[in-house]
Amino acid sequence: MRIAVLSGKGGTGKTTVSASLAVSVPFCQYIDCDVEEPNGAIFLTPEIQESIPVKVPVPEADMAKCSACGYCAKACQFHAIAVVKGKVLVFPEICHHCGACVIACLNDAIREVERTIGVVEVNGDGTFLQGKLNVGEPVSIPIIRELRKRMKKDVPVILDCSPGASCAVVQSIEGCDYCVLVTEPTPFGLHDLKIAVRLVRKMGIPFGIVLNKASDSSRLIHDFCRDEGIELLMEIPFSQEIAESYSKGVLPAQNDDFWKEKFEKLYEKIERGAGK
Ligand code: SF4
Ligand code: SF4
Repeated sequence: MRIAVLSGKGGTGKTTVSASLAVSVPFCQYIDCDVEEPNGAIFLTPEIQESIPVKVPVPEADMAKCSACGYCAKACQFHAIAVVKGKVLVFPEICHHCGACVIACLNDAIREVERTIGVVEVNGDGTFLQGKLNVGEPVSIPIIRELRKRMKKDVPVILDCSPGASCAVVQSIEGCDYCVLVTEPTPFGLHDLKIAVRLVRKMGIPFGIVLNKASDSSRLIHDFCRDEGIELLMEIPFSQEIAESYSKGVLPAQNDDFWKEKFEKLYEKIERGAGK
């Protein structure tokens, strides 16, 4: 079973929920797809054994063959290639590696060269994976694709997705059996949760909500779940003790049976919700 954990916005506790699930579900695989800021390792402390560079093709022009016709620049939707004063300029950071400029060049003047945009790191038995996008790189999809290629088929897989509802999230949750949406009881939390709900509904993936930093003073998320007929899977209270534990890199589920059982029950609900 493939479970994606996502949140409409950053800072809701998405990684703590995914990592807590990972320590509570026996024999699972945890994949950190939040490649701009992979934090799961802080809690799960894996021993990384392999680091695989992720490379993408970017165009390079051979000016000996180039007639400065500009077709390549016209073909690029991302303005990543330009022809200025008879010279072809490539902006690799914004190239989306689609190859359209190569096809558009009738002089065969463009070839593709490899460029490393980040890495995929794996522990010894492949139960922990994380992607890391190099600073300044804008396109994370190739790294997520590489991570997904290494998903195990015979154990539950927990995918810790990027925050938001970007292409990277769509790429991460595609084909998943269930999505856990982590949110907090604030107007911002609700606003971004609604976007995430629209996304998973559109993709037809069963889902439920985990409310983090829950407090008696706000019923925003409860009301939303009731009105929308969405299952509120679990509540994690706003608690100084829990916050202190996180700040030391320790999950409550790692040293407190109460929380471990809570996350085991969460997994059972996910299984039921996914029809497994
Ligand atoms: S590969 Fe695609 S995105 Fe990159 S420069 Fe060529 S046309 Fe533009
Ligand atoms: S399409 Fe080819 S020939 Fe035309 S400007 Fe681009 S690289 Fe040069």
